[in-house]
Amino acid sequence: MKKSSVLIVYTGGTIGMRRNENGTLAPFDFSTIEQEFPAVRNLNVDISVCKMEAIDSSNVTPARWSELAHIIADNYADYDGFVVLHGTDTMSYTASALSFMLENLEKPVIFTGSQIPMGVMRTDGRENLITAIELAAAVDVEGRPVVPEVALYFQNRLFRANRTSKHSAEALSAFESRNLPPLAEVGVNILYNNSVIAKPKSNGAPLRVLDRLDESVVIIKIFPGLSSESLRAMLSIEGVRGVVLETFGTGNAPTTEWFISAIRETIARGVAVVNITQCQGGAVAMHLYETGRQLQDMGVICGYDMTTEAAVTKLMWLLGQGLSGKALAEKMATSLRGELENYDKM
Ligand code: ASP
Repeated sequence: MKKSSVLIVYTGGTIGMRRNENGTLAPFDFSTIEQEFPAVRNLNVDISVCKMEAIDSSNVTPARWSELAHIIADNYADYDGFVVLHGTDTMSYTASALSFMLENLEKPVIFTGSQIPMGVMRTDGRENLITAIELAAAVDVEGRPVVPEVALYFQNRLFRANRTSKHSAEALSAFESRNLPPLAEVGVNILYNNSVIAKPKSNGAPLRVLDRLDESVVIIKIFPGLSSESLRAMLSIEGVRGVVLETFGTGNAPTTEWFISAIRETIARGVAVVNITQCQGGAVAMHLYETGRQLQDMGVICGYDMTTEAAVTKLMWLLGQGLSGKALAEKMATSLRGELENYDKM
C-alpha cells in the first residue's frame, strides 16, 4: 500500500515546549521530529512540518483561524491528512471554527496538544502526537481516509472536534464530548466507531475555504441574580449581531418581565439570539417548560445540544457568510458539520 503523507501544522501551546539547558521552557523544533522520536519512522508515514508563529492559544484570533484554514487548503492536494498542534485552552474553539470554514473536507484534520510540555519526562504529548499522526494517515482497504473530518485526539480518544470542550485543567484526559461518542478509542488497537464518523458530503466538489467570520457576537451566561442592568448593557453593545445565550437545563430562563422584554427588544433589532444549555451534556428543548417556551415564542433560535464553542464559532461564521434573519436561524438549528442533533426532527 502507498505510504501516506501527513502535514503537521504547529501553532504553539504546551505541546511545543521543552526544557533547555538553563531549565526554562522553550519551543521545541518539530522539524526534527523524526530524530527526536525515531518511533514515528515505524508509522510508515511521510511527515512534513509547517510552523506558524507559536502562541499561547489564549491569544488565538479569528484571523489565525483563517490563516490556519488557508495553510490546510494550500497543502490539501499534497497530503493525505493533517495534524494541528495547538494549545489546549482554546483548541475546541479553533477546531470548531475550522470545521465550518473548511467546506467539502474529505481528509482528516486532527487537532492535538498536551497538558504536560513535550520536554518533560512524563509528557502526554508524545503519545498524543504519534497517535494523531497515525489517525491522520489511516486509510481503509480502498485507500480512502478513515476519518474525513475535523477531529480532536486526546488521551486515547478521538472526538468530532466541534463536539468537544476542554473540561479539565488538571486531568490528562482534558477534553470531553458529552453529546457524541468518540470517533475512535485507542488501546492496544485503534477501534474506529464507523457509525459515528461522518461520511464526506462533497460529492467530489473541491475544498473551499469560507473564512469570513463576523466577530460581533457575545456569549451571555445567565445566573440567578443577573440584573436587568447587566443584561441590558450586554445586549445593547453597539454593533452586536449575535448572542449565544447559555441558559439553564433544557433551555430555561427567567420569566420575569424585564428579562423577556430585554430579549424581545434585542430580537426586534435583528440580533440573532441562540439558546444553548450551560449544562455539560444534554440538549435544549424549549417546548418542555413555560420558562423555555417563552423564549421560543419570541424567536430565540434553538441550539439543541451544541457546545458553547461550536455555537459561537458557527454564529460568527454564518454571520460572516452574510446570513441573517430566517435564513440564519434555519442554518443555526441545522447540523452542517455534525455539530448538533436536531431532536425535533427525530
Ligand atoms: N496555555 C496553553 C495554551 O493553550 C495551555 C496548553 O497548551 O495546554 O496554549
